[in-house]
Amino acid sequence: MKIGGNANYVCDVTSDEDLQQVYQNSKKLNQPVYVIGGGSNMIVRDTGFPGIIVRMRIMGVDILSDTPESVTVSAGAGETWDVFVKQMVERNLSGIEAMSGIPGTVGAAPVQNIGAYGQELSNTFVSLEAYDTQTDSFTTLKKEECGFAYRHSIFRGNESGRYVITRVTLQLLKKRPEPPFYDALQKYLEQHQIGAMAVTVQIIRGAVLEIRNNKLPDPNRLPNAGSFFKNPIVEKVFADQLLTTYPNMPTYTVDQTHVKIPAGWLIQTANFKGRVLHGIKSHDGNAVVLVNQNARGYADLAAARTEITTTVAKKFGINLEQEPLEL
Ligand SMILES: Cc1cc2nc3c(=O)[nH]c(=O)nc-3n(C[C@H](O)[C@H](O)[C@H](O)COP(=O)(O)OP(=O)(O)OC[C@H]3O[C@@H](n4cnc5c(N)ncnc54)[C@H](O)[C@@H]3O)c2cc1C
Repeated sequence: MKIGGNANYVCDVTSDEDLQQVYQNSKKLNQPVYVIGGGSNMIVRDTGFPGIIVRMRIMGVDILSDTPESVTVSAGAGETWDVFVKQMVERNLSGIEAMSGIPGTVGAAPVQNIGAYGQELSNTFVSLEAYDTQTDSFTTLKKEECGFAYRHSIFRGNESGRYVITRVTLQLLKKRPEPPFYDALQKYLEQHQIGAMAVTVQIIRGAVLEIRNNKLPDPNRLPNAGSFFKNPIVEKVFADQLLTTYPNMPTYTVDQTHVKIPAGWLIQTANFKGRVLHGIKSHDGNAVVLVNQNARGYADLAAARTEITTTVAKKFGINLEQEPLEL
């Protein structure tokens, strides 16, 4: 977001040994440690961080098993997520192709259980390796232990700050993507006259990258953290009541009693789309993305956020939850 102060120290770690040593030294130096990947999903206060920022740079992609149906692959937490996706798509493996173009690292992917265009990390996730800062040892966490939910896991919940993810293992399938496809993808396929039987992982990756390019501002040019709010999940009966006032409100089924409402639609319908508040703009192409146009610091971002969340709460009775984590 191009907001936030400095850290006392920044260091890159490229191995498990490096990482353990940084934590051991930090205790001697009495400096707190905070691990980042690409820093694409964080909000930092103007005061910065009075300690050591570790940039996760453990690399390497290894195939652990290869059967006629699937491949199990382990990737270093420092690998760039989209480079990894590209490599897997080139091998004709499916399961993460719709998550093409998501900024950041492999190691950050489990933190908010990244997802896009109908796929979520947890769908292919097997396990991860992590450094446990409480016990000063390395451990393996299986899928059931990670508490994955929509844009959530233990790593940003109960166990926030405890584990540093060093490797992630996924199981990808040797089969073509199958319908039903996410709405925007289905539309793209129809526009390009691509029948369901002709769809490949390469086609899905190309489609997603094109759709994202048209819809999402490039953080290098227009500082942003992607979706600033999660899509709220509400009781279906509550959504049905809202639909009587707003019949065009989009809803997506979560389970028998819950639906998801796009935060972008709520923000747009509350008339914020394209508007600049305290130097922060709700993006013209996608209202849920807040772009730092000329904010003077964290206070401006916080003021814009409050204006949006209080208006949406008053209008719809829904509390928006921030997606990027705050340091
Ligand atoms: C333009 C744009 C589009 C985006 N689109 C999507 C999208 O479609 N779907 C989606 O889900 N997200 C999306 N995001 C959000 C972001 O890409 C993801 O959250 C991504 O996983 C962040 O990766 P990162 O390496 O930059 O994480 P960072 O921002 O560096 O870190 C995010 C959090 O994870 C923690 N963390 C990072 N690495 C580790 C590690 N190795 N071990 C433990 N904790 C760690 C950090 O401490 C921090 O709390 C988007 C962001 C932008 C800017």
